[in-house]
Amino acid sequence: MKNFYLPKEIGEIIKKLKEANFQAYLVGGCVRDILLAHLKSNSQKVFLPKDWDIATDALPQEVQKIFPESVYENEFGTVGVKVKSKDNSETQIVEITTFRQEIGYSDKRHPDKIIFAKSLKEDLKRRDFTINALALDLPTSSLGALNQNRKYLKVLKFQLIDLFEGEKDLKNKIIRAVGDPNERFKEDALRMLRAVRFAAQLDFDIENQTLNSIVENSHLLKFISKERIRDELIKMINTSRAAWAIQLLSNLKLLRFIIPELEEGIGVTQNKHHIYTVWEHNLRALDYAAKRNYSLEVRLASLLHDVGKPRTKRGEGPESTFYGHEYVGARMTEKILKNLKFPGEVVEKVTLLVKHHLFYYNVGEVTAAGVRRFLARVGEKNVDDLLKVREADRIGSGVPKAFPYRLRHLKFMIEKVRHDPISPKQLKINGYQLMEFLKIKPGPRVGHILNALLEEVIEDPKKNSEEYLKKKALELNKLSDEELQELRKRAEKRKQEYEAGIEAEMRSKYKV
Ligand code: ATP
Ligand code: MG
Repeated sequence: MKNFYLPKEIGEIIKKLKEANFQAYLVGGCVRDILLAHLKSNSQKVFLPKDWDIATDALPQEVQKIFPESVYENEFGTVGVKVKSKDNSETQIVEITTFRQEIGYSDKRHPDKIIFAKSLKEDLKRRDFTINALALDLPTSSLGALNQNRKYLKVLKFQLIDLFEGEKDLKNKIIRAVGDPNERFKEDALRMLRAVRFAAQLDFDIENQTLNSIVENSHLLKFISKERIRDELIKMINTSRAAWAIQLLSNLKLLRFIIPELEEGIGVTQNKHHIYTVWEHNLRALDYAAKRNYSLEVRLASLLHDVGKPRTKRGEGPESTFYGHEYVGARMTEKILKNLKFPGEVVEKVTLLVKHHLFYYNVGEVTAAGVRRFLARVGEKNVDDLLKVREADRIGSGVPKAFPYRLRHLKFMIEKVRHDPISPKQLKINGYQLMEFLKIKPGPRVGHILNALLEEVIEDPKKNSEEYLKKKALELNKLSDEELQELRKRAEKRKQEYEAGIEAEMRSKYKV
């Protein structure tokens, strides 16, 4: 390693700690990522890790004394120092953590107590993997020339502290537990997921003993909080090796403690329209979404879109069916994501995508009004993601083209109609105006009339003018309550017949 760039503020913090006669090292992810960047290329390109962690022998109170602008965040010995970058006046928190050892994890979640350690060595020993247990010592002399005008400092002199052959593992692309893997995973079972996550993010393999130890200790994952599991899962799913990671989680007997429902698809063969089992197909769909760098929601929906198939499978062989799997799958998806404490918006979005992933579209058969109704059903803001899930579904089933003519045509139709009115809010006349104009009181009648107006507008958006809607409203207002109700019922029925027709067609065609 030749040199690297350090934000000036970080250099200043290390310098201040050292001038107060404390030790201070760069540790953890930033050291790993700097070394990795050096291994990957010989270029002098500026590489900056996403965050910087500093370890010190100064106790939290002592750190706070040196940096009055700091906050003691938790009981784990981490002090957050606020730094302002000169040019954009952004405030950033740099974490300074006192050397520590951890003793006793009786709840398998948090250490019972933190014992501060005197030496860097003890601190590095309690870290999870060899590649995360590296430290960099920067002599004060290398921090001396903190040029006021520069945002970054070029560090030329430094010493790598590598007590567990972390650099060698980095070179060989290996995730290896520090010391005895059984002990490390018993202390904190989340580390098993972190191993898989780092392997996925860095494109590394997990060393054999570490791997075997994970299988042996996999059951300990049930003691880990859902929130911590969720955060690691998100990081894995957001890598380009997401599908690989899910397969590995299953091989290591970890997936059964995270999303056991997915494993119901292992070995479940499908009908003549598929070449892969449900499990393989779900993974291939996720793989496609990950390779295309789609959003977390699209990736999750791709992974879960057929999760309902094993429970709805009827018959065996080329004629087997999976009627209703999208509804069953949507309910399962909601439960899975809620259980993992995903935010409400994510749960809602992914559930919707799973529920609607089977939409039907045939050129010439579905009208513009039909596409507007489709948009009204799935929501204009979700339709692009829904098409992506469908794309992942198709590619994941081994069909070569992501976008055959039919889907391209649907996309074209969506673009054509996507700004057309499809909800009562978009009508050129609202409920209040309608009541005033017709001189009627609030009640179901208002709703019935608005609904009938919307039906007209969905059929023909040109009718969405105040003039036309008023004229039509006057006509509708001549009808009795019963007649209006009847009108609404008929519209509902037409919609249902239309959707049922589509479904029947789809089922006979695709045997889903
Ligand atoms: P990234 O921030 O890119 O996810 P990181 O290595 O910085 O990667 P963090 O979770 O930020 O990971 O943790 C910082 C460092 O703290 C790690 O490099 C590791 O040394 C240590 N560490 C974090 N979590 C654990 C854990 N559960 N067990 C042991 N050491 C841990
Ligand atoms: Mg980090």
